[in-house]
Amino acid sequence: MPALSLDAAGDGRVYDYLIVGAGFAGSVLAERLAAGLGKQVLVLDRREHIGGNAYDHLDAAGVRVHRYGPHIFHTNAQRIVDYLSRFTEWRPYEHRVLARVDEHLVPIPINLTTLNTLYGLAMDEQQAAEFLARRAEPVATIRTSEDVVINQIGRELYEKFFRGYTRKQWGLDPSELDKSVTSRVPTRTNEDDRYFTDRFQMMPLHGYTRLFERMLDHPRIDLLLGTDFKAVRRRIAYRHLVYCGPIDEYFDYRFGRLPYRSLRFEHQTLEQPVFQPVAVVNYPAPDVPFTRITEYKHLTGQPHPCTSISYEYPCADGDPYYPVPRPENAALYRRYQALAEATPGVTFLGRLGTYKYYNMDQVVGQALALYQRIAREAGVAVESHEAESG
Ligand code: FAD
Ligand code: UDP
Repeated sequence: MPALSLDAAGDGRVYDYLIVGAGFAGSVLAERLAAGLGKQVLVLDRREHIGGNAYDHLDAAGVRVHRYGPHIFHTNAQRIVDYLSRFTEWRPYEHRVLARVDEHLVPIPINLTTLNTLYGLAMDEQQAAEFLARRAEPVATIRTSEDVVINQIGRELYEKFFRGYTRKQWGLDPSELDKSVTSRVPTRTNEDDRYFTDRFQMMPLHGYTRLFERMLDHPRIDLLLGTDFKAVRRRIAYRHLVYCGPIDEYFDYRFGRLPYRSLRFEHQTLEQPVFQPVAVVNYPAPDVPFTRITEYKHLTGQPHPCTSISYEYPCADGDPYYPVPRPENAALYRRYQALAEATPGVTFLGRLGTYKYYNMDQVVGQALALYQRIAREAGVAVESHEAESG
């Protein structure tokens, strides 16, 4: 992974692929094209580091933190685990989240413990199911993020756990967001307090950045950091472009801006070994300005006398983090997608390039699927675990 200067990258060599974005989308594709197809690849990123939003590093006190918020790896796909395991060992980790509601600290997703604690009851699983069924307000057609929750657990719990958090996170009322957003968080009547139920849940043993370093460490991959595509597009020669940045930006916002939600992180190191009982505590109350506090040592297992935490403040301006799932945005994205399909020589990939609220494993899957298509077109057989299904 030679890190290049712009002069070196623009010195007359012709890359088979220029990949914009060194996050999961760009890095996985670069690795596959270089190692699997022998292509000469240049990866560039406007940030000064690799890893995209999954980037982690040691802070000033030596505590490993995720600069862009907590990233927990979870998937049901064996082939994604197999692929990533070429570049990292793993640390078993099951994510648990608590929510500060009224004076309580209770599990979210809402489960039996949450209900019994909030209401001072001692229900069993069946009684909890009946309790929720009595509160649920059936919605005939479930379209929005409000409908999903009200239909399952009723208005009171919706307001305690979802309304305030969602309004802060997205700057929109749940009734203005696609149902897919709050559907990410289930409701349970048993005591399972894990945030995810996927078959595989773990963290890269030495962090995400190390994983990316190993993925990009290939003699046919060059890397140019701190460099915006726009500033250098005419100085670098390449046959094909893969763009993992925001698709609307690539097209100079021709049809208007696609909304992306941003975040501001306030990172702190505390001179105490532990700050909170779990990695993430959510604050759904509307009068608290942040959405959640993350304590990274729970994720990494790092022994350290200090601990580092981050407060997450959602905002409209700043780096694009989240595509905003709602029908009008999907319609606008489709116009850009049609334009992309009619533009030869460029392929869009990843969470920003395809305007999809994807988790890391889904982005890895999307990049492997693109690789497979390119390999097929080149008449090269791909290894079975790189295939789309499985
Ligand atoms: P990114 O990681 O965003 O990478 C895109 C890169 O392109 C960026 O580094 C950017 O600088 C670069 N770029 C863009 N435009 C240009 C340009 N013009 N020139 C040069 N470079 C450019 N997923 C999970 O599976 N589990 C989690 O727990 C989880 N937690 C998350 C928490 C937060 C706060 C956020 C925001 C996301 C989380 N995700 C999580 C999602 C995860 O971050 C994404 O799925 C994944 O990082 C997307 O990878 P990507 O390569 O598509 O995009
Ligand atoms: N959500 C909520 N309260 C919570 C947790 C989540 O209202 O305590 C809603 C909120 O709209 C959030 C969505 O559910 O954006 C999805 O949550 P998830 O934890 O998957 O969000 P992400 O990790 O992608 O930020």
